[in-house]
Amino acid sequence: MDKSETQIDLSIVIPVYNEAGNLAALHDELTAVLRGLGRPYEIVAVDDGSTDDSLQVLRQLQQENPRLRVITFRRNFGQTAAFAAGFDYARGEVIVTIDADGQNDPADIPRLLQVMAEGRYDIVSGWRQARKEPFITRRLPSMAANRLISRSTGVSLHDYGCSLKAYRSEVVKNVHLYGELHRFIPALAGWMGVRVTEIPVSDRPRAYGRSKYDLSRTVRVLLDLFTVSYLLSFSSRPMQLFGLIGLTLGGSGGLIGLYLAGAKIARGILEGAEGFRAYRIGTSPWLMLAVLFIVLGVQFVAMGLLGEVMTRTYHEAQGKPIYAIREIIESKEVE
Ligand code: UDP
Ligand code: MG
Repeated sequence: MDKSETQIDLSIVIPVYNEAGNLAALHDELTAVLRGLGRPYEIVAVDDGSTDDSLQVLRQLQQENPRLRVITFRRNFGQTAAFAAGFDYARGEVIVTIDADGQNDPADIPRLLQVMAEGRYDIVSGWRQARKEPFITRRLPSMAANRLISRSTGVSLHDYGCSLKAYRSEVVKNVHLYGELHRFIPALAGWMGVRVTEIPVSDRPRAYGRSKYDLSRTVRVLLDLFTVSYLLSFSSRPMQLFGLIGLTLGGSGGLIGLYLAGAKIARGILEGAEGFRAYRIGTSPWLMLAVLFIVLGVQFVAMGLLGEVMTRTYHEAQGKPIYAIREIIESKEVE
């Protein structure tokens, strides 16, 4: 480790995808706030394969500010991958993530750090109490998602989706990210016994450009929620889940079969051989359909979950990165 590496104790990680118009203003705000803190910091901007002038702007800013390090991806790998790269390259003991579009206010950073410095928490999450986005398409699904994530993961937060969060570096360096999982970091880390809290932060409208996401993200987040709750609760004992489903289904199937057989015998006793023969169950289309649906349902659930486990094994066992870097632009020595 060289000298500059040991000096930094705060890293700001920013995912950047087509934010050319927002970067200069954010950089100014950030540096003003960070200088005021008077502690050695670095800014790690991850250019997630932007197709606008973002990279040129970042290069320019880097020329002027040796504390800015720019990591550039070969293509667009997504916000989660950008965060993951930022975490991998960040050298600070505390890592703060913030969006590049100006929606988060850098002025909130000192308060996050203050709570962090009290030492009781490993993650301090921002909570946008007064969000500026449309209610139906953004805030409502997000509210539902936050409730659901809090419930099913046991780590209660009002605003999982807020990018402005502070982490102790060892926490994020030990969480393996892929897919859209970055918003689940507090939940995944909660599993390690990490202490999480939240404080209100402000939310501002985007200055330039537009959001990179649409409603489909809500669906993807919900699907990820299944994965995360499964991984958190059942991944080490899948039999408790699959076994329960299997027993329930097998049990109900058995009961239905018993009922049908019982009814047939009852007809035989009440109406004699004629009635017994007339009561046909083997050809009942409903029976066939029910059996078919149950079997298919079990197959699909099992396959989906096994697939998730395999994905996790794949990423963790191979240590395969979820991104590919083209270039790292940084100054050799920081002051
Ligand atoms: N972002 C990224 N890669 C992507 C999409 C988004 O790095 O594929 C960055 C984007 O530049 C911004 C942050 O992630 O800094 C949040 O994106 P956005 O503002 O579009 O999301 P929203 O605030 O609308 O939820
Ligand atoms: Mg945004």
